[in-house]
Amino acid sequence: MINTTEKNIWSRIAPSLPGHFGDKVYEGWLRNIQYQDTHGGRIYLTVPSRFVRDWVSVRCKDKLLTLLQAEDGNINSIEFVICSNNTKAAPKKDIPEKNEDIQVIEKLDAPKESIVSRLDNRYTFDQFVVGKPNELAYAAAQRVANATSVYFNPLFLYGGVGLGKTHLMHAIAWHIEQTQPKRTVLYMSAEQFMYRFVRALRHKDIMSFREQFRSVDVLMIDDVQFISGKESTQEEFFHTFNALVDKKKQIVLSADKSPSDLDGIQERVRSRLGWGLVADIHPTTYELRLGILQAKMESVPLEIKPEVLEFLAHKITSNIRELEGALNRVVAHATLVGREINVDGIKSVLQDLLRANARQVTIEDIQKHVAEHYNIRISDLHSSKRQRVIARPRQIAMYLCKKLTSKSLPEIGRNFGGRDHTTVIHSVRKIEDLKEKDLAFGEDVDMLEHIIGK
Ligand code: ADP
Ligand code: MG
Repeated sequence: MINTTEKNIWSRIAPSLPGHFGDKVYEGWLRNIQYQDTHGGRIYLTVPSRFVRDWVSVRCKDKLLTLLQAEDGNINSIEFVICSNNTKAAPKKDIPEKNEDIQVIEKLDAPKESIVSRLDNRYTFDQFVVGKPNELAYAAAQRVANATSVYFNPLFLYGGVGLGKTHLMHAIAWHIEQTQPKRTVLYMSAEQFMYRFVRALRHKDIMSFREQFRSVDVLMIDDVQFISGKESTQEEFFHTFNALVDKKKQIVLSADKSPSDLDGIQERVRSRLGWGLVADIHPTTYELRLGILQAKMESVPLEIKPEVLEFLAHKITSNIRELEGALNRVVAHATLVGREINVDGIKSVLQDLLRANARQVTIEDIQKHVAEHYNIRISDLHSSKRQRVIARPRQIAMYLCKKLTSKSLPEIGRNFGGRDHTTVIHSVRKIEDLKEKDLAFGEDVDMLEHIIGK
């Protein structure tokens, strides 16, 4: 499949890269890129890390494509692949190390496929910065990775987007792979689980599907919230789960919510999910964010002023993925302008991110503002008091939580003295209704929303 003409093409343009991008960019970012393969006009290049991939994709891809096209008009796109040793395949030989899209296409035609886990080689324990918000999850992950028998089953990691769940799961897999190579570890997303299951059904191959899953020592399924509402997938997952628990095999799961807050999951599945250790990853703190930025900078050939990192840690509070994205951009900018960047400089580079992060509203914020506005206590919002002077503000607060945060209905309910999600729905409808009927009331609520949302 390797096309030598294309291979030459990359070696042909490589010497001209310092001239086109400058020595600094070339040395720091482009020099380690290697040719991998070409498929239907798409050229695959390997990069050493995701950080480099993101950076190069944003800053150099278009120009690289132009250069490649100047050599060969058939090339129409570039795909960066994180370097080959990030691929962990059970039977290594028959799966070419390549971009995931392609693998899926190839596997569609394959009559039988082996189970392949893909792990990001940056997601190890030593690349994971530990702080208050994630120390429990980290300790639990370490425990599972180092254990030779099963202490708690499953380990259920949950937390918001971009807080390190996938990172920890990969870290467990890497660690077991290195320290106990005889144990088979299978990591995949719930989406992949479903995809394989559905395909096995279609190919009437369900027996070997089951066998593959049930023969592993450690099964890790990421983002299980994805199977919510998908009945037959849940059913299959449930059986796989039970079979492995019976055999005393370790299961590690992650989701964006705790088992009890997951919507659309059958009750018996939900209760099983909470059987073992449930460890949550809390939103980040300033110290953790700063620690992460400092750790990331260690692998970047560039100096960034401490106050710039501090500024980022203060302002980009949403999650670690965005924080990394922001750092990426700052580094890119500093490299391009060729001088140290200061806080004022990054404000314009990160305008959109800063604005988005400023808008984060929490349930507590809303409760505080609503209680103040209506001159009641926050504890009244959690209480079961039913007088209108308290019940109405409580409904308004729930309505605003639905509107201004991304929390689920059960989660909102829980934050109002453990109310049911149907109560939240009722409150939201009630307020919508009142806003329509009573203009003064509507204005009042809108004003509150405006103040809180600012
Ligand atoms: P999730 O799966 O919870 O959405 P990820 O595990 O994909 O989040 O993490 C998002 C990004 O943030 C990844 O690049 C990951 O390496 C990084 N990250 C998350 N937590 C940490 C941490 N504690 N230390 C270093 N990097 C982290
Ligand atoms: Mg994830």
